[in-house]
Amino acid sequence: MDVKISQRAASIKPSPTLAVSAKAGQLRAEGRDIIGLGAGEPDFDTPEHIKQAAIQALNEGFTKYTAVGGTAGLIQAIIQKFKRENDLEYSTDQILVSCGCKHSLYNLMQALLNAGDEVIIPAPYWVSYPDMAKLAGAETVIIKTNAEGNLKITPEQLQAAITSKTRLFILNSPSNPTGVCYTPDELASLGKVLANHPDIVIATDDIYEHILWGQESFQNIVNVCPDLYDHTVVLNGVSKAYSMTGWRIGYAGGPASLIQAMKKIQSQSTSNPTSISQVAAQAALEGDQSYINTSNKIFKERHDFVHEQLNKIEGIECHASEGTFYLFPNFQGVIDRMENINNDIELAEYLLEQGEIAMVPGSAFGAPGYIRLSFATSMENLQKGMERLEKALT
Ligand code: PMP
Ligand code: GLU
Repeated sequence: MDVKISQRAASIKPSPTLAVSAKAGQLRAEGRDIIGLGAGEPDFDTPEHIKQAAIQALNEGFTKYTAVGGTAGLIQAIIQKFKRENDLEYSTDQILVSCGCKHSLYNLMQALLNAGDEVIIPAPYWVSYPDMAKLAGAETVIIKTNAEGNLKITPEQLQAAITSKTRLFILNSPSNPTGVCYTPDELASLGKVLANHPDIVIATDDIYEHILWGQESFQNIVNVCPDLYDHTVVLNGVSKAYSMTGWRIGYAGGPASLIQAMKKIQSQSTSNPTSISQVAAQAALEGDQSYINTSNKIFKERHDFVHEQLNKIEGIECHASEGTFYLFPNFQGVIDRMENINNDIELAEYLLEQGEIAMVPGSAFGAPGYIRLSFATSMENLQKGMERLEKALT
């Protein structure tokens, strides 16, 4: 018997990025040799000093509930991190630690949005933003971008999308999936629009801040426009910067009233994030930061290789990424020239079945005709993947 599920659950789809990784895993378990370019997670192990901190915590019996919003030690480490790296000042009641940045975003939308409120999301967007907004009962207002504008929105587009119902604007730079990063000038012009709307909360998802080569240093919208501080939430986590996706630690800094509402929701759902992971995250933020530069260099080398290979294939147009571990080529030329392939979803399926390469169709990110590749895998896999791609498409 099928149990009738809630309208809420029925209104959303499973995360497509996680679904592609699961499908690749399933095919591998059936004996197929799949090259995974779908997963959005660093392939490196978590640095040793971080693992040792967790092992020590475990051995010392740090295995009980902690304060809902995070340990005092981790909250202090986050406050120091924001000060040191982002020039942002927060007090303890302005910080919440959650089970991944995804959970921080989820708590934010649950704490902020009412039925009928509008959330402005630039496309291409990370797959979970629209469904999280829907789970909170809100409507999404998607701003489309184009290749000429480097897949970034303009201040005019932002202005046109704002209504009296707008409650939240989400900005992710460097961006998953496009890999592009807004310049300080571009952020300033978006900030100018938002400064006239203090009721709109700005969520800056900075999870890829450290995986960046296209600009000299990372800046978010509140760095460029400090007057937005009172209505901006900065979201981040240790998953991408320190190869800690499985540890599930993310955090938010923002207006105390909003952060406290998010904490209340967390107290009635997950309680605290895992105690041992919190110790590991504190070690990541307070310890040696050289890992970040080392992994950045490797990602950049891989990026350059894949970017060059993709642009050699007829029908693919691929802009360079400025950060992240994604490339987001336009495959429309390939779709147009291939018989029996009508869109990016069919093409990604064909490439998985026939080419044995897993990638995520652009439609999942609100950008049909594109496909996202993750280069967070070894150079050997990338070489094999590019050979297979060329073979499958020619
Ligand atoms: N934001 C973006 C843009 C992401 O790509 C991810 C990766 N899943 C997250 C947030 C969430 O990361 P996590 O929950 O692992 O901290
Ligand atoms: N952020 C990653 C991705 O986009 C991880 C998967 C997820 O949580 O969506 O692939």
